[in-house]
Amino acid sequence: MDVQFFTAWIEEIARAVADGRDHLTRLDAAIGDADHGSNLDRGFTAVLAALAATPPETPGAVLTLTGTTLIRKVGGASGPLYGTAFRRMGAALGQGDADVTLAGLAAALDEALAGVRKLGGATEGDKTMVDALGPATRALAEAADKGMDAEEALDAARDAAEEGARATIPLQARKGRASYLGERSVGHEDPGAASTALMFRALRAVAG
Ligand code: ADP
Ligand code: MG
Ligand code: MG
Repeated sequence: MDVQFFTAWIEEIARAVADGRDHLTRLDAAIGDADHGSNLDRGFTAVLAALAATPPETPGAVLTLTGTTLIRKVGGASGPLYGTAFRRMGAALGQGDADVTLAGLAAALDEALAGVRKLGGATEGDKTMVDALGPATRALAEAADKGMDAEEALDAARDAAEEGARATIPLQARKGRASYLGERSVGHEDPGAASTALMFRALRAVAG
């Protein structure tokens, strides 16, 4: 996976966020403040502009620029959290322009997960993006260990993210704005877990 691959991933996320904007906002209307779709759409629109203005030359630089731009452009919880996730991935990949292996991508995602958990203080089961990011990261690491090819491995990661997002429906939120609702947060999918699943769908899509 080279710089073109990572650029295509971010572009695919931007397209999917624009398409899914209203859906994400509806999810956030149920247990939050109805801005998750517009927050991410604003952020990724700015990311596309930043990538076009100064096309990064390495995979790490693509992800670092993505994260930095999200932190700058997105208010609310998801901007700093996703911004940190992409920046940590970028830092983990380093400054080289060698192709990233599945194991390298899994290690970078593990860094992203650690960054999100540290910043937001959420663990799995708190009904946040961590409920999708955690399982997807583990699935990718396992797939890389087993020597699966990229398509199979990214299938597994996407499936785990989607399953993790669906599994937030019966949970009561313990972090973020939705936690203010207490038991009334039960019965709704977490918007951030849904957008994380979208990002893993985009990752699978660009792998062919
Ligand atoms: P805001 O809640 O500030 O309006 P968004 O609507 O853009 O921000 O994002 C909400 C999402 O952010 C939630 O659905 C949840 O997945 C995620 N989130 C909120 N707080 C945390 C946290 N402390 N740790 C991890 N994720 C969180
Ligand atoms: Mg919101
Ligand atoms: Mg908000």
